[in-house]
Amino acid sequence: MLVILLGPPGVGKGAVARKLKDAYAFEIISSGELLRREIRENTEIGRQVEPLVSAGALVPDDLIINMVKERLLTRGNIILEGFPRNVRQADALEQILEDNGLQLDLALIFNAPEDVLKTRLQQRRICTGCNAVYHMINCPPIRENICNHCGSPLTKRLDDDEVLFRTRLERYLSSSSPLIDHYRDLGILKDINADLPLLDVYYQVLGSNVKFTQESF
Ligand code: ADP
Repeated sequence: MLVILLGPPGVGKGAVARKLKDAYAFEIISSGELLRREIRENTEIGRQVEPLVSAGALVPDDLIINMVKERLLTRGNIILEGFPRNVRQADALEQILEDNGLQLDLALIFNAPEDVLKTRLQQRRICTGCNAVYHMINCPPIRENICNHCGSPLTKRLDDDEVLFRTRLERYLSSSSPLIDHYRDLGILKDINADLPLLDVYYQVLGSNVKFTQESF
C-alpha cells in the first residue's frame, strides 16, 4: 500500500506516520527527514540544501525527486510524507510508480487551524540522537530535555521558529492547492480533521481506506 500524507507544517503528519509504521510495518519516506539527515551528516547534498531548509525555502525538485526515487523501489507498504510538494513532483512520482508497476492507493490531506499548527511547532522538540519527536505539553519526555529512548538531549528543529513558520505556511498555502486538486481528480484524496487528539486523528486515517481493515495489504 502506498499512502501520501499532505498538510501544513505542524499538522501532525509525522506522528500519524509513526503510528501507522508501528501498526502495519509501513516504511516512512519523509523528504524533510531525508534532507535533515544529509545536513546532520554534513554530506555534499547536506551542505547544498542547508541554507534553503534553514530559510524555509524548497530545495530543487530534481534533487528531492532523486532522493525519494532511490527509496521508493523497495516494495511494501510506504508512507510518503512531505513529498510530493508540488505538481511537478507529483508527476515525477507517478512516472516512477508507472515505470515500476506500482500504484498510489491514498492521499490524505490533514487540516488544522493556524493557531493550532503554530502551538504544535512551538512545543515540538526532537532528539539529537534518535530523532524521536516530543510535544512539551502533550507528550513531554520523562526527564527534562532528555530523550526517553536513547538519553540524548532534545533540541528544536532549526526551522521551527515563529518567523519561519509563517514562511513555511505561506509556501504551503501557495503550492498545495493544485496538488490537492490533482489527487481529488484522481479520486484518492480523503480529508482528515487533524485538530483532534492524535488517537482520534489516527482512527480517522484507519477509517479512510478499506485496506487498513484488511489483515495484509
Ligand atoms: P514542514 O512541512 O513542516 O515545513 P518538512 O520536514 O516536511 O517540514 O520539510 C523541511 C524542509 O525540507 C522544507 O522547509 C524544505 O526546505 C525541505 N523540503 C522537504 N520536502 C521537500 C520537497 N518535497 N521539495 C522541496 N523541498 C522540500
